[in-house]
Formats: sequence, structure tokens, C-alpha cells
Amino acid sequence: MLKSIAIVAGTHGNETSGIQLLHNWQNGGLPARFAALKPSFMLANTAAIKSNVRFLDDDLNRQFVPERLQAASGDHEASLARDINNRLGPKDNPQTDFVIDIHNTTSAMGATLIILRKDAFSVQLARYVKHAMPEANILLEDEKPYAQHPYLCTVGKQGIMVEVGGQPQGVLREDVYQLTQTLTETILDFCLAFNTGPLPELPECDVYRLGQNINFPLDDEGNRIAMVHHSLQDNDFQPLMPGAPVFKCFDGTELTWQDSEPTYPHFINEAAYASSHVAFATASMITL
Ligand SMILES: [Zn+2]
Repeated sequence: MLKSIAIVAGTHGNETSGIQLLHNWQNGGLPARFAALKPSFMLANTAAIKSNVRFLDDDLNRQFVPERLQAASGDHEASLARDINNRLGPKDNPQTDFVIDIHNTTSAMGATLIILRKDAFSVQLARYVKHAMPEANILLEDEKPYAQHPYLCTVGKQGIMVEVGGQPQGVLREDVYQLTQTLTETILDFCLAFNTGPLPELPECDVYRLGQNINFPLDDEGNRIAMVHHSLQDNDFQPLMPGAPVFKCFDGTELTWQDSEPTYPHFINEAAYASSHVAFATASMITL
């Protein structure tokens, strides 16, 4: 039974679709069918929202690990994380059953549900969402245990992220807004079904499982020597085949996918990861 549900947006202050959706739900109310869920709303980083930036001092969505929550850092996001951990968590003994944290990405990832483990709840949620919204992508990030993720949503007993794109930072696109609303409402429909229970048997679904980050190639001085190839750009979750172009070098040559297996690239050319030279992330496809 999900007794306490928190819907969070503005964890990154320039990801406007979730922020606007929460504003609209706070002002106009949630659709009536969700009344029984009584979710709480939280705009996580109001200072960053006001400034239309991802964060002021540090990424809020990387703060929720014990060593950071216990440190006495005076950074804006570090103290904000301690406050959110007290309000929704604490992480080691959560008072919130389910945290839905809404993000958007500059990558063309469509409507993506990010789950962080393969427990029964997450598998049922993934199947429900894929069944109700076939155009949604399910991304599984289980490369580390749930509690070791630094994400805000992990202060809940269950936590997931809504990730929709492509949308430039600080900009609101209607198509991205609509996908964000549809995916979030589908997750809330799952919550209703979960609480009413038992859930119907749902068909298995394909899920992208996070592999690794692929960095831009750099020269000896740390300068980029290539950009994402146009045939990869905006093709998030489309299979990247062995030998297919990945990077276009500034000298005119191309670098190709050297692995013997296809991969499912995503977060391609994500603006927030540009400063760390991440070009995209890889994934394999599994069935849950
Ligand atoms: Zn974000």
C-alpha cells in the first residue's frame, strides 16, 4: 500500500516541464481520479528555478548519499538535500512510500521512466507503464544498489524518475510537457491500481539497462577532437550497430562503434553532461 506519495519537480531548476506541470496541479488540482492518493507536491530547488539554472553550487540530484548528507557543507544544494532528506526521508528510514521526481533532458529520449532496481514493485510499474503507454521507454539503472544512488528520489522507500526530452534547458516545449503529463499520470494510475490490488498479470516488457558513459575523444591537452555524428544525434534508444559512425572528427574523419554488439545509446549530447565530456550512455536490452 502506497500511503504517502511525493511528486517532485525542479530538482534541476531549468527543467521546466515538470516545474510547470506541478505549478498547474498546485493551482488547478490533480485530475479527480487521483484524489485518493493525496500526493504531496514539492518544487525541490526554488532558488535554482528562480534563476533558471540547473543548480547554484552543486547538482542537487547527486547529494543523496550518506557521506554527503552527513557532511556539514554550506553549499546551497548540500543544505537543501539535508532539508529534503528530513522532509521526505530520511534515506535510511523513509517516511515517504514513493517519490516521483520529474526531469527533462536535452536528448531526444521521448518519455522515459527510469527505475533503479528490479524488485517486484519496479517490474510491475515498468510493465504497467509500457502496457498503458507503449511509446514510453523504460530505463533500468541498477549498476549499483538502490541506496547507493545519489538521486533525490531514493529518499523514498520507492523512488523513480520521469525523464522526458528533447527540450533545451530553460525552455518549455508543448510536446515535452504533454509527454511529461501523460507519463506522470500513467504512474499515478499504477499507484491507484497497486493500492486497489491485486494487480492484473501484465505482459513482460523490453527495458534498456544502463551500461556505461562514452566520453568525447580528447587530445593530449583535453580539447575535444570530435562531435557526435549526425547519424547518431537525436537517435536515442535506436540500436547503434557495430561499425556505425559515432563521432565526426574535426579533421573530417569518422570514429565508429567498435564493440561487437549493438548498443542502445541515450542521453546523446545531453547539455548537462557536456562539461564532463560525456557524449552518451550505452544500454543493453533486457526483458522484465
Ligand atoms: Zn534533471
